Amino acid sequence: MVDSSPVRQTRAVATPRLPSYVGEAGIGPWGTFLAQVDRVLPHIGHLSQWADTLRRPKRFIVVDVPLRRDDGSLAHFEGYRVHHNVSRGPGKGGLRFHPDVNLAEVMALAGWMTIKTAAVNLPFGGAKGGVRIDPAHFSLAELERVTRRYTSEIGLMIGPEMDIPAPDVNTDERVMAWIMDTYSMNVGRSTPRVVTGKPVSLGGSLGRREATGRGCTVVAREALRRLGRDVAGTRVAVQGFGNVGGTAARLFAEQGARIVAVQDVGGSIVDEAGIDPAALAVHLGAGQRIDSFPGATPIADDDFWAVDCDLLLPAALSNQITAANATRIRASMVLEGANGPTTEQAEDILADRGILVIPDVIANAGGVIVSYFEWVQNASNFAWSEDAVNARLDRILADAFAVVWREATERNIALRTAAFVIACSRILEARDMRGLYP
Ligand code: NAD
Repeated sequence: MVDSSPVRQTRAVATPRLPSYVGEAGIGPWGTFLAQVDRVLPHIGHLSQWADTLRRPKRFIVVDVPLRRDDGSLAHFEGYRVHHNVSRGPGKGGLRFHPDVNLAEVMALAGWMTIKTAAVNLPFGGAKGGVRIDPAHFSLAELERVTRRYTSEIGLMIGPEMDIPAPDVNTDERVMAWIMDTYSMNVGRSTPRVVTGKPVSLGGSLGRREATGRGCTVVAREALRRLGRDVAGTRVAVQGFGNVGGTAARLFAEQGARIVAVQDVGGSIVDEAGIDPAALAVHLGAGQRIDSFPGATPIADDDFWAVDCDLLLPAALSNQITAANATRIRASMVLEGANGPTTEQAEDILADRGILVIPDVIANAGGVIVSYFEWVQNASNFAWSEDAVNARLDRILADAFAVVWREATERNIALRTAAFVIACSRILEARDMRGLYP
């Protein structure tokens, strides 16, 4: 019999907890992200009804990026762009070139951008991109062709009011300039606002290059102050000496901290008397390996985690602090410069051991804050001084950290959970207010 009533009989349908394309998502960065979302739900009341919107990205694209190599041969790479959530504004997030990057990792990185932009209250959502390539094995001209083809392939996904890429691991100002140029050629007009982290000559913001590392030092200062301590005299160990780790190390040293250990992809060194970050940057910039840095002692990579220090700054890749090394860490504070450097298990071990973890979504938010400034400056066709950029960065981050610290203290929860509670409340409140279309 045909049911002619205007309202159909409804039957409860359970939404599967995970979308099918995720596969076994219990491990890896996406698994870590999901577990972090789960920890928030008891704290956000009726908004938890929207939690599934955080457990599945809004949209993504996987593209083939073919390359004609300099020697005439052909190569193919997988590229990704993920919009995790855009409830509060356009997607925002970096582009990573790495041989191990994959869709699940880019989803997690996009998810952390959703949380990060909300935690510091920027009018953006979360996005991320990646190309599965090891740039060390390709010429500059080849990387330019890969970047331009990738940009064209994901062209439908990006735009100044839609999704604004920025630098991440192994991408920099030059890559942003290629993206800006390719996008502009494809749409037929110069569109500097499609990326941030551009060269200053193309509308980039003063202070953007150092912003993430600078932000790490602002957040460290605020955390140490609340513990009655000071950056001066703090012994710091840094994993990753690139944009984030290298800049943070230099600024920490300028404020009187001592850099006692550094690890990068080429090895690990220690020097209890203090490693000069400026000299190390010159050494690495000249193509030398880290373990030949004069005056410092090379150590095994595994032993880096057990170095005697006060503050550990992971500023390389995800999932570096694991159950295997968390028991050896001697720092009293872990400042997450990298995205997702601490696994779920390691986080519990660090908490049990009384080690304070300052989560990535606050610790490394300096970059996206100054990216926001860049986007605003481009929109108003007006450039701010570097002092103005740094002062505004300092204020926004210090205020955001104060809110997270208060939330953690009042609810007696970890700083990460507190940051997620604040961010998820803002994101899901926006979701709730917008309602569902149709
Ligand atoms: P980068 O490419 O400039 O530097 C990466 C550093 O990590 C290099 O020193 C490299 O030698 C080191 N490294 C790579 N693999 C390693 C390994 N297996 N062991 C030890 N060291 C290794 O990248 P970046 O921009 O400084 O980004 C570092 C981290 O910070 C990433 O997790 C990124 O997502 C995060 N982050 C970056 C920004 C930004 O503005 N650049 C903003 C927020 C978060």
